[in-house]
Amino acid sequence: MSCSLGLAIYPDDSKSIDMLHKHADLAMYRAKELGRRRWHFYANEIESSVLARHRLEQYLSRAVQEEFFEVYYQAKTDARNNSVVGMEALLRLKPLDGVFISPAEFIPLAEECGLIVDIGNFVMRRVCEDVLKWQKMGFNHRVSINISPVQFSQQYFYEGVQRLMTELSIDTGLIEFEITEGVLAKDVERTRLLLESIQQLGINISIDDFGTGYSSLLYLKRFPINVLKIDKSFVDDMLTDENDEAIVDTIISLAKSLKMELIAEGVESVEQVNALSTKGCFVIQGYYYCKPIPYFDMCDYLQAKN
Ligand code: C2E
Ligand code: CA
Ligand code: CA
Repeated sequence: MSCSLGLAIYPDDSKSIDMLHKHADLAMYRAKELGRRRWHFYANEIESSVLARHRLEQYLSRAVQEEFFEVYYQAKTDARNNSVVGMEALLRLKPLDGVFISPAEFIPLAEECGLIVDIGNFVMRRVCEDVLKWQKMGFNHRVSINISPVQFSQQYFYEGVQRLMTELSIDTGLIEFEITEGVLAKDVERTRLLLESIQQLGINISIDDFGTGYSSLLYLKRFPINVLKIDKSFVDDMLTDENDEAIVDTIISLAKSLKMELIAEGVESVEQVNALSTKGCFVIQGYYYCKPIPYFDMCDYLQAKN
């Protein structure tokens, strides 16, 4: 057991016992936010940030039932012939009081409070349903789904995936899971077995943000991985920074020698597309070709590209 402490001082922080209590509570939440096992004094700005966080948490807890979520899709394009070769599913939350909240903000919060499990299930089901609809329209594109480390470490994660794929009769070759390097670093043996079972179902495994985390070469050898994703941060600076270019070159040659698929993300300019293609990375995801868009817009996009 460990403890987190919040301190509020009489009479500076409040003159009433109830408010003093409340402020000490808020200070305790801040102590927890900062990593637990610590103490924190109350300050006025804590109140607004803790309350905002609390409001977002409550909003998220209603979001799955009340359909505040929408799954957007971003195309992956083969730069050699400009054809769509896949998509990534990216979650969007309906604005709260008119304010857009990025997944980079609400996903970590959902992970902390455990809501990510329900949210992840919602995304997976929605993607499978959309994949089925696209198949009926004649589009057989593989769609990747971001899997949070919290979902992945759920005891019955595999069983849940298997059940869903069977229930909806999904062609699992059209599904890909994007996981980050952090997942591979934890509980290596369980992770390996789990990834192998997932791959045996037919689902592809992609390593997201490759090169930004632990980046152990041992992982690439030990785990069944189909795709390496070159992170946006390297793509951003590869044309101006030799070090970033060298990292991109290294990832490309690694993927080639290990016979993995390659994709670069966050590609915004034709210069980046050209540089990546010259180096041998042809599959491109980024605003240059397509921003993340809702399902119906993606249907139009696919039809226009066809
Ligand atoms: P990610 O998986 O690395 O996704 C790529 C992010 O880069 C997306 O941000 C995408 O919109 C953005 N992006 C793609 N191309 C470009 C570009 O050319 N320029 C710029 N500036 N950005 C580009 P987004 O949609 O805001 O998502 C942020 C992160 O939130 C994702 O990063 C992922 O880690 C997480 N996330 C999103 N949806 C889900 C989900 O359904 N489940 C889980 N667990 N995480 C999700
Ligand atoms: Ca991703
Ligand atoms: Ca990424």
